[in-house]
Amino acid sequence: MFRSPAAALLRRLAPRLSGGTAGSASSARRTLPPHLAPSVLARFSSTPTSSPPPSSSAGERDDEAEDHELPGAARLSISVDRSGLCSPPEHSHEPSSDSELIKHLKSIIKFRSGPISVAEYMEEVLTNPQSGYYMNRDVFGESGDFITSPEVSQMFGELIGVWAMCLWEQMGQPEKVNLIELGPGRGTLLADLLRGSAKFVNFTKALNIYLVECSPTLQKVQYNTLRCEDEHDGDEKRTVSKLCGAPVYWHASLEQVPSGLPTIIVAHEFFDALPIHQFQKGSRGWSEKMVDLAEDSSFRFVLSPQPTASLIFLSKRCQWASSEQLEKVEQIEVCPKAMEITEQIADRISSDGGGALIIDYGKNGIVSDSLQAIRKHKFVHILDEPGSADLSAYVDFTAIKHSAEEVSDDISVHGPMTQSQLLGSLGINFRVEALMQNCDEKQAESLRTGYWRLVGDGEAPFWEGPDDQTPIGMGTRYLAMAIVNKKQGSPVPFSPGWRRRSPFE
Ligand code: SAH
Repeated sequence: MFRSPAAALLRRLAPRLSGGTAGSASSARRTLPPHLAPSVLARFSSTPTSSPPPSSSAGERDDEAEDHELPGAARLSISVDRSGLCSPPEHSHEPSSDSELIKHLKSIIKFRSGPISVAEYMEEVLTNPQSGYYMNRDVFGESGDFITSPEVSQMFGELIGVWAMCLWEQMGQPEKVNLIELGPGRGTLLADLLRGSAKFVNFTKALNIYLVECSPTLQKVQYNTLRCEDEHDGDEKRTVSKLCGAPVYWHASLEQVPSGLPTIIVAHEFFDALPIHQFQKGSRGWSEKMVDLAEDSSFRFVLSPQPTASLIFLSKRCQWASSEQLEKVEQIEVCPKAMEITEQIADRISSDGGGALIIDYGKNGIVSDSLQAIRKHKFVHILDEPGSADLSAYVDFTAIKHSAEEVSDDISVHGPMTQSQLLGSLGINFRVEALMQNCDEKQAESLRTGYWRLVGDGEAPFWEGPDDQTPIGMGTRYLAMAIVNKKQGSPVPFSPGWRRRSPFE
């Protein structure tokens, strides 16, 4: 059950559409959401804003291998398979058509006289300061490579706003709160959150907004999306979002965000971009998969010629799995960066109060072989033209949970639940109905499509098959997990009394 402050929030959501999407009115009517949502959402504006329309495809995800697991952690042994290695070609001064990033990757491998880990490859490809995939362009939407939930519909950011306001209520409505978004992309989620919560003045005026974003190009896009302006007070300059009047700050990492205030953290499709290590079980034990250069100077996968330092993370991950689970898997992906950032989140929430909501596609268990590359809404080979396609991997929510719990007894971890359950419980059906009251036919169609993409069932959010078989939604593949300070109690909608319903019920 929603507590009364939350219900009051929902009632006041602005009744305006922002150009996003929604689900079919009739289907929405079939399945009205639980009580809290209507009351807060009623206070939102009910006109569409201008979120970009949904595209036909968005980061399809490979079917994850079954939840197989490996032999007991105690049996972890490392063997070296040198058969796949080759001598890298001599350095040449021949002109090459290689991009700067490819030249850079090749030079690392040549300089080391050996392969690099998949994690190092992924990190360079995505976030190399000069030529990483995210660094110099806007990669989202139909004209980009993939589409994310906030870009599908304004309702996504609005409902995350409901979640944030409910948490703020549970925190006792602190006068100042840090709202941190990790990896904000275009800033669409936050813009919809702020527009949706505009009437909750006590909430919006409490906000200090921090965007953790490594890409200077995307920082500029976020500045515009949040309608930021620079204000000068003598020599002091501060940036303010005209959507709510809150100050906005950018940092390249969470560590750099000042602590000391109650904190609300949102991370949507951020963890899937963090670099993963891949390990493979062979007849003689486990080896790390690496990226090397073949004779013809193309990239190829090999197994590590020697035990790698990251095996310590494999060992750590295996401690959180049963021996039965471990026996079944031939491959494991481990994301030390996700563990580290989760520890930072838990540490911050433990000392400052508040909570975090992590939404991403992933599994509540060991991830085997999920790394994928997507260019222009189509899968491509992971080693094909690095830097020109998005790389991402399933998020291991079990590892996130344990990483957080190990940091402090003052925090609790909730979920994961599916995106469909999260949005259904927060009131997406009520919200779509409210928006449908106040829109033209084109907007209504966009709302319907967006609704189904957000909460619909499906293996992957994008589809290359025949149109009549396009059932693909993000509702079940995407999972949501909350980490909160125990002082805040259970967060909505993870609280025991809160019905975890799917919008389809
Ligand atoms: N949350 C957005 C964007 C997801 S894409 C959405 O749902 O639309 C991943 C985002 O994280 C991008 O903004 C990317 O530039 C940023 N990012 C990726 N790796 C990062 C890192 N290591 N540090 C900071 N930001 C990162």
